[in-house]
Amino acid sequence: MKRSVIYPGSFDPLTNGHVNIIERAAKCFDKVIIGVAKNSSKNSILSSSERVKILKKVFKNKNKIFVDQFEGLLVDYANKKKIFTVLRGMRTVQDFEYELQMATSNNKLNKKVETIFMVADGNYSHISSSLIKDIIRLGGDASKFIPKIVEKELKKKLLEKG
Ligand code: ADP
Repeated sequence: MKRSVIYPGSFDPLTNGHVNIIERAAKCFDKVIIGVAKNSSKNSILSSSERVKILKKVFKNKNKIFVDQFEGLLVDYANKKKIFTVLRGMRTVQDFEYELQMATSNNKLNKKVETIFMVADGNYSHISSSLIKDIIRLGGDASKFIPKIVEKELKKKLLEKG
């Protein structure tokens, strides 16, 4: 039986922390579906299609890793894909409360949906997409924390905005 997992998130933008989780997940599962949530948050720096494009480029040569996007409830997406294992990353105790609430709610919404957690690698546990957005918006250098393609796309985006 093939073991598949959905790794959902905003990925706005994708960071080296996300990449680390995805690559480790590909060692544990036969198929890792990265589910990019199409949210309409005004705080987004990249559109969902830009986020998908970046993820597809980063993982283009990885045969176990697939990029997809979804709108609405994660449990509905899980149902549609017929994949009921959800993976989330756990960085600090700050993540814990929110993740516990989400995992419990998703399981209450659909009993089949189980969330599992992968502990962040110590080298990346301080990285978050919001931190990257702040660094970029304030003109800093976030290159240590994000893949090259992300840096390129973000710079392009900022130039477009003038
Ligand atoms: P969301 O908006 O759904 O929280 P994110 O894109 O911020 O989406 O994060 C997706 C998942 O990746 C979450 O489970 C989050 O805890 C995890 N994550 C984010 N940054 C890191 C990191 N640096 N190391 C490990 N996991 C991370």
